Amino acid sequence: MKIEKFSFGTGDRFAHQGKAQLAAIIKAKKLGCDIVPVWNKSNREHSIIGTKPADLRAEADAAVKALGWDDSYYVDADHINLGTVDSFIQPSNFFTLDVADYIGQKCEEKDLTAFIAQNKKFLGTLQIPGIDTKLNITENDLQKIGAKFLLAVKKAGEIFRQVADKKGGDNFVTEVSMDESNQPQSPVEMLFILSAIAAEKIPAQTIAPKFTGRFNKGVDYVGNVAQFEKEFNEDIAVINFAVKQFGLPNNLKLSVHSGSDKFSIYGPIKRALKNTGAGIHVKTAGTTWLEEIIGLALAGGEGLVIAKDVYKQALEHFDELCGPYATVIDIDKSKLPSADEVAKWDSQKYANTLRHDLSCDDYNLNFRQLIHVGYKIAANMGSRYISALEKFEDTIAQTVTENIFDRHIKRIFLD
Ligand SMILES: [Zn+2]
Repeated sequence: MKIEKFSFGTGDRFAHQGKAQLAAIIKAKKLGCDIVPVWNKSNREHSIIGTKPADLRAEADAAVKALGWDDSYYVDADHINLGTVDSFIQPSNFFTLDVADYIGQKCEEKDLTAFIAQNKKFLGTLQIPGIDTKLNITENDLQKIGAKFLLAVKKAGEIFRQVADKKGGDNFVTEVSMDESNQPQSPVEMLFILSAIAAEKIPAQTIAPKFTGRFNKGVDYVGNVAQFEKEFNEDIAVINFAVKQFGLPNNLKLSVHSGSDKFSIYGPIKRALKNTGAGIHVKTAGTTWLEEIIGLALAGGEGLVIAKDVYKQALEHFDELCGPYATVIDIDKSKLPSADEVAKWDSQKYANTLRHDLSCDDYNLNFRQLIHVGYKIAANMGSRYISALEKFEDTIAQTVTENIFDRHIKRIFLD
């Protein structure tokens, strides 16, 4: 199984927007832009919402059938590890092996020695096509990189084999992800991580590094855009080089786990894809859930009441909701409106405050981040929330499709 050049990952916490998400991909196709959809959901999301990996498969199959989608599509076991992979094996055909927790942990001495021996040929000056400056690699660099990443790659190998034993190694797409770590990985580190991935015989088709800068949940990129652009292009060059050097799958591409909505780096990404001809996988994670809340607010009536209630309760449970996401959100509490204030809002005011439209004066990124991590509140509402999704399906579907198409796909893939 070989994933196509452009793929787009969407998350759908409450499993009701599969069709609306696919509609955005179809819109792109009609304009001549071929992207394949990937539905992704992590174990954490499944357990908070109370869904199972097989539910995501059912949702994807149903959406594809309803809209007559003939091309490939994938169901991503997102950020799985050895402990969580089992229930994902049967229904998924894309596996994101998350080994970020093992970065920096000690590997076996003999593995480190073997790693250094394998990569000795790169010592000294190294010219990688597409990177302007020559790299200078010392044995000390190899030692450091091996010590930092080798155990993580070994663990990825273990997870890969666990899936491959049950599914057959050619029947799924493998991604290796290290994005949920504190330190970004440099292009040089990436080169030797890919060397280790090849040595471990993991047929990685996508790799998700931690890029430079801050990738907060649901809001724009915070960091040096020029630096990001340089590294992103160098990462592409490193991948092309590594594919030839190490015999990795020739469709290997970068996977950007955006934590959603990294609009200011979409321009640089688009330029890089155009200039290099590289492919990409984009994971947008959870903004579909925010579009559900926007759609509910716009629908008015009970929809708006629910949207306001989600915010009120999210405020009350601020610490509990934000705690698990502490490293990926930055909320200025003093800029959050009070529940009483929000109670007076009309549909437009609520939607404008939440919608990620940087040109709108009402947009409030603190409000948005709090709602983003507040999906547990909606999950606890149970059938009250789900019935509203069904009742106001038309309005919500429109906001979901528009978000994916206009704010994401257009900016990355279309002119
Ligand atoms: Zn990720």
